[in-house]
Amino acid sequence: MSCSYRTYTPAELMIWIPQLIAKDDLHAFYISHAWLHLRAEVLKEQHHECQLCKAKGLYVPATTVHHVKTVRQCPWLALTKSNCMALCDNCHYEIHHTKKYRWNDERW
Ligand SMILES: [Zn+2]
Ligand SMILES: [Zn+2]
Repeated sequence: MSCSYRTYTPAELMIWIPQLIAKDDLHAFYISHAWLHLRAEVLKEQHHECQLCKAKGLYVPATTVHHVKTVRQCPWLALTKSNCMALCDNCHYEIHHTKKYRWNDERW
């Protein structure tokens, strides 16, 4: 099945994402086809497994895809697969709420 959608170059992301942040509408990024497609690919490639639990030898289904470097901090990496990680809800919560990551206010 082919599906065409708008995608963005890093240079475009560096313009688009700060505009969304300025409008407090980063949600628009998370519902964009470009992100949803990348997200689906990441989940598939990482076998729908939480990568942090996997590192601990546990199998936990991933429910979300996290940006290692946040969209706010590094907008140009927002659609870079190697910056994305499949996680379970618990790990995702921890990663966003531990001191180490307290600067991180990204929600997804
Ligand atoms: Zn996990
Ligand atoms: Zn996240």
